[in-house]
Amino acid sequence: MDKSRGRTGRTTAGGAAAEIRTESGHRGLQFEEPLIFEQGAEGRGGVDLPPAPKVAERLGGVRRKGPIGLPGLSEPQVIRHYTRLSQKNYAIDSGVYPLGSCTMKHNPRLNEKMARLPGFADLHPLQPMQTVQGALELIDRLAHWLKTLTGMPAVALSPGAGAHGEFCGMVTIRAALAARGETRRRVLVPESAHGTNPATAAACGFEVDSIPADARGRVDLAAFKAKLGPDIAAIMLTNPNTCGLFESDIVKIAEEIHRIGAYFYCDGANFNAIVGRVRPADLGIDAMHINLHKTFSTPHGGGGPGSGPVVLSAALAPYAPLPYIVHGADGFRLVETKEGKAQPFGRLKTFHGQMGMFIRALTYMLSHGADCLRAASGDAVLNANYVLARLKDVMTPAFDGTCMHEALFDDGFLKDTGVSTLDFAKAMIDEGFHPMTMYFPLVVHGALLIEPTESESKDALDVFIASLRSLAARAKAGEAEFFHAAPRLTPRRRLDETRAARQPVLRWRPPAPASQAAE
Ligand SMILES: *Cc1c(COP(=O)(O)O)cnc(C)c1O
Repeated sequence: MDKSRGRTGRTTAGGAAAEIRTESGHRGLQFEEPLIFEQGAEGRGGVDLPPAPKVAERLGGVRRKGPIGLPGLSEPQVIRHYTRLSQKNYAIDSGVYPLGSCTMKHNPRLNEKMARLPGFADLHPLQPMQTVQGALELIDRLAHWLKTLTGMPAVALSPGAGAHGEFCGMVTIRAALAARGETRRRVLVPESAHGTNPATAAACGFEVDSIPADARGRVDLAAFKAKLGPDIAAIMLTNPNTCGLFESDIVKIAEEIHRIGAYFYCDGANFNAIVGRVRPADLGIDAMHINLHKTFSTPHGGGGPGSGPVVLSAALAPYAPLPYIVHGADGFRLVETKEGKAQPFGRLKTFHGQMGMFIRALTYMLSHGADCLRAASGDAVLNANYVLARLKDVMTPAFDGTCMHEALFDDGFLKDTGVSTLDFAKAMIDEGFHPMTMYFPLVVHGALLIEPTESESKDALDVFIASLRSLAARAKAGEAEFFHAAPRLTPRRRLDETRAARQPVLRWRPPAPASQAAE
């Protein structure tokens, strides 16, 4: 632990808390945690292992040239290290996480309990089909509920995230166009779209054509119509959109896009706002990804990978990727090659999708039931509107009227205060909140996008709202310096984020030289 000493004064910039210097480098209960390799010492260990049996030749005579450099640590050291690292994460388990467009909702522990059942946790994707009938049935059930909630006839479950789902959907559209002998080049993407939409279209070989938003934060219908032509392959539209608003002309947009023989891709990342209330099929959508880690309460990274199933209309279903599950006389079976005329584009990834996420998402659905899924989307919208209503006199809402699941503000309320959206967000960290999404969507100046989700109680929202109201008042009272020095109470102050990304310092202690090798 010696190496953790002498780290005092690492927090240098001004501000009361930063001036407190400690010998250990710790500040209160915030720990200055060295790398595990810096804490390790040779000969220390957490378990007593018996001496390795003497075998003349193992692994065909291949021998290590030296120690592999694992740190020697006692069990308490290991426990503290990882516990402290976990405490450096701000998570939905620590507090309000209002990151707009991300649906950072509570991950119910029942999901975790089900995913850890040995029959699921110990599965291997190469097991014989007869031994995984239960797993295949679970995947089939999840598919059933995703199709029911969206009104769509088919779903591809293998995509590993929302962006991967977009890729799956757009490649499916490309395959369907190719089957018609067409090579349409252009994809329409509204200006307010998430960056993954134009990136996906470009990655699939399409040209991106941007549609402006109107004064109400929706697709400008006249501008959209003016762009329609025989070379349009698809539109990629988010609904509710990233301004937190329902695209009120969506049915008209679907009709127009189908009239010219193109397809309607919907980015379903915001599905949490409409689950149980609106079925995407009824809006005329041909393909939509669903982020299980957003709408269906599976973890965002950390606790596991994401999952982005794509529901497909009858027109696109024949081109869905392999494999898919069918149920026959001999039970469930994975179809790995396609019979029939329509040719799917092949496999999207090695195995069949993120099984652990399927279990969690189905657990969420079954434990809620249709009535509570509907209640959850209602509460998510109610919470966002409560935040909007309680802040609209001190911050500037980007658009008039009510919102869907997220409340969007612009930086008008910070005008002439010398405080930017970024400064405001940094001050929120000192208040103990993860900041909202900033500077997105791009159509709103200095955007602050708040998505409380249905997880938050009124009490929690009231504390959050009180913090934002107080910060808005301080900005207006001319306390720009206060904001420029934020955050003050974090282990690190303002970082040079560009340099951190471009010149990352990745250090660990290399193994001892071969001459010191034990063997
Ligand atoms: C989160 C999100 C995506 C991308 O989903 P990932 O699962 O992060 O790949 C795409 N579009 C919107 C609107 C999103 O919010």
